[in-house]
Amino acid sequence: MNVQVDGKTLIPAVDFMVDPSSGSSTKIWKQRPITAAEIFNAYENQKLYSSLKSNKEFNSVVIDVQNYKNDSLKKANALAYSLVELCDVMVITNEKFTFSVGREQYPNALLFVQGKAIDNMRQIETQIESVFKARHTARNVIAMLPAKKKTKETIVFSAHYDHLGGMGQNVYFPGGNDNASGTSMLLHLADYFKENPVPYNIVFMAFAGEEAGLVGSKYYTENPLFKLSDIKFLLNLDIMGSGEDGITVVNATLFPKQYEALVAINEQEKLLKQIKKRGPAANSDHYFFTEKGVPAFFIYTMGDNKHYHDVEDTYEALTFNEYLDITRLIAAFVKGL
Ligand SMILES: [Zn+2]
Repeated sequence: MNVQVDGKTLIPAVDFMVDPSSGSSTKIWKQRPITAAEIFNAYENQKLYSSLKSNKEFNSVVIDVQNYKNDSLKKANALAYSLVELCDVMVITNEKFTFSVGREQYPNALLFVQGKAIDNMRQIETQIESVFKARHTARNVIAMLPAKKKTKETIVFSAHYDHLGGMGQNVYFPGGNDNASGTSMLLHLADYFKENPVPYNIVFMAFAGEEAGLVGSKYYTENPLFKLSDIKFLLNLDIMGSGEDGITVVNATLFPKQYEALVAINEQEKLLKQIKKRGPAANSDHYFFTEKGVPAFFIYTMGDNKHYHDVEDTYEALTFNEYLDITRLIAAFVKGL
């Protein structure tokens, strides 16, 4: 992977980012700059498409979105994603880079470049090799701590252990907060409940494929190892590395009694700054369980760490300020269920 602008080699993940669904591109660009009118005026926009289709003078486009915000920015970005069907696209941006998992592959390359990394842009040269793997095997890892006295009632803790992998040979997304932190808490809770048993089975589910669209947990809810209706409550842990500003509980509005119980424990034990409530959201592995009627909370921490889906989401960047308080809160919550 190599991107050069006017002879300068750009630094991946700092100066540029390749879209996770990008196609390959090895060429010297003959780029056509896109005007504001072509983004915002329907007539000019149509003319742009036909000229790109018929005119072979250009093999790529450059869209500078640095001066756009909100809806204008959305429109400009949408144009980039639609033009990638026709040719290679470079978006000049000043937004923070984030990465994700591609579930398809565009026929051409799509890359984002920081405005401050480039100057004139007379010559762009790319060497991007992108391979789409339609099938990839990953595994959920599941362990059970059976209750001393036989019962069907089960508490589930879940945390996804996958992240984004890398981009090219040298860029790695560590996923410290998202979600090594939750995976580690899962193991911590396994140790805790082994020493401090409760009258329920406890099942620990480390899911794969969350970042690719909740794939591992969706698979599990379609192929459960025991009846989903035996799950008394599920607690999904994702992004547990900070907590200076407390935690947010997704699904709090669906289960107000359990939410109140959590808040009461917190007030009594003086653990966290706040427990914010949030409605249902399809934003982590609790989602498909909720859809199937399993009572569940998704808990995430709030705090100073703002690294998300980037190369700086490292162990070192996390405070783990409330890590032990959260496990205390969860342990007391489970005992009270
Ligand atoms: Zn996550």
